Amino acid sequence: HADVAMYHAKESGRNSYKAFTLELVKKSISKMELEQDLHKAFLQNQLKIFYQPQIDITLGKILGFEALLRWEHPVKGLISPDEFIPMAETTGFIVKIGEWVMKKACSDIQKLNEQFGQEFQVGINVSPRQFEHPEFVSMVWKALREAGMHPHSVELEITEGLFVKQNGLVEERLQALHDIGVQIAIDDFGTGYSSLAYLKMLEVDYLKIDQSFIRQLPESMQDGAIVDAIITLASNLNLQVIAEGVETSEQAEVLRKLGCAEFQGFFFCHPMPAQQLRLLLDH
Ligand code: C2E
Ligand code: CA
Ligand code: CA
Repeated sequence: HADVAMYHAKESGRNSYKAFTLELVKKSISKMELEQDLHKAFLQNQLKIFYQPQIDITLGKILGFEALLRWEHPVKGLISPDEFIPMAETTGFIVKIGEWVMKKACSDIQKLNEQFGQEFQVGINVSPRQFEHPEFVSMVWKALREAGMHPHSVELEITEGLFVKQNGLVEERLQALHDIGVQIAIDDFGTGYSSLAYLKMLEVDYLKIDQSFIRQLPESMQDGAIVDAIITLASNLNLQVIAEGVETSEQAEVLRKLGCAEFQGFFFCHPMPAQQLRLLLDH
């Protein structure tokens, strides 16, 4: 019992204490079950990738897709990545899952590119644990080669949290990825790390404006000011911007006026399986 309590105390950020309760046991058990379930799910092909189009805001044209992981659980239905990725990140299983996502997403989108004679981009989310893995760069290279995909068509989405450590590894790795020719996006930009210094030192191509800044547009003056500032910053640094979580035509209109070139969100469409993308593109 003491062990269970200690485990939960550690998990809630060390330097704290927890008393043992039955609730904690239940939590530990359901976490363990989820972990075992996820391993099984991976082997039984229950993990799927949905794709959300990224749109040119003035032309309304599809430029690429973000790959978003889903777990099609036979009993619980579709499980959101927010429910299992943090756990997979803690256990390290994300490295294996991430490798599968990288290969599958490159191959799915390359097939679309060949079928439609286009150069659609694919955005792939990369978690810190995966990014820091010693084999990460060669894994990316292998996925590109196997799929026959042009490196420039791949955009790896990382978060600002990676820059907190400042141990040189991130810089080195971004440089190596840049040398391969893949693009780098900072996901959820503006929500993580407060120093902007990394932007001038690192090989970054895109800023993705977090959906929390978009949600209350056009009403919120503060959010409008923040979005405006991010777009100006990006433009002055020669970076591209993508706005996330755009749900209404009003939001898209504000973004267009502010000079944002690209967006994704329910306003255009929800993430969908690759097969449905074909129907969308056939239109
Ligand atoms: P994210 O990278 O910020 O992805 C955007 C999330 O916003 C997605 O949630 C997407 O479905 C949702 N979204 C898109 N348009 C709208 C909109 O108009 N309104 C609202 N309210 N939401 C919108 P999802 O698919 O549940 O993914 C959640 C997070 O899980 C992602 O956030 C990403 O951090 C992580 N994730 C997803 N797939 C992967 C993956 O393959 N690897 C890793 N490491 N993380 C992933
Ligand atoms: Ca993302
Ligand atoms: Ca995001």
